[in-house]
Parts: sequence; C-alpha cells; structure tokens
Amino acid sequence: MKKKAIKRKHIPERTCIACRTTRPKRELVRLVRTLEGTVVIDDSGKRSGRGAYLCRQQDCWEQALKRGLLNRALRLKLSDEEIDALREYAVSLAVDDELASTAE
Ligand SMILES: [Zn+2]
Repeated sequence: MKKKAIKRKHIPERTCIACRTTRPKRELVRLVRTLEGTVVIDDSGKRSGRGAYLCRQQDCWEQALKRGLLNRALRLKLSDEEIDALREYAVSLAVDDELASTAE
C-alpha cells in the first residue's frame, strides 16, 4: 500500500467506541481489559492488554455502557459493580470539564 508522504508530527489517533469519532489518543480515555477479565481505566496509556477508547464525555460512556459496546470491544462481560464505577468516572469527567472551562 502506498502512503502519502506528508511531513508532520505524528499524532497517534484512536476512535471512540461510542461515537466513532477519531481523536488524538491523548484526548481519549483508554480502558484496558486486565488478565482477570476486569476493566481498568488506563490513565498512563501504557498498560498492556486489549484496550478501548472513549471520549472524555459522559454521553459516550453512557452509550458504551448502555449498548454493551465495552463488552464487545474488550470481549468481556462487565459486572454491575464495574458499570457503576465507570458511570461514576464518567460523571467525574463532566465535572473536570466544567472546572477546566471556568479556569480559562
Ligand atoms: Zn465519543
């Protein structure tokens, strides 16, 4: 396959599993399936394992949880506890956004 030779800084991009938007990796939250078959939020982006990405937007998290998109992307079955924990995390993201926008 021939690639266009455009010289620019390489920014790794990933796609949100909920809204399918492609964004720079750093703007997304990475979730990783652990060896135990549970899901963890990978703040460092460096954990190994099967990963999925979501926007830092509560909507995307709701969609992913409601429609079982995480289960599918990570090939696991989230427990009710995990779903609750992820919802809480999503809510905290929304709060961060508000703080960030008022700080500017
Ligand atoms: Zn999204």
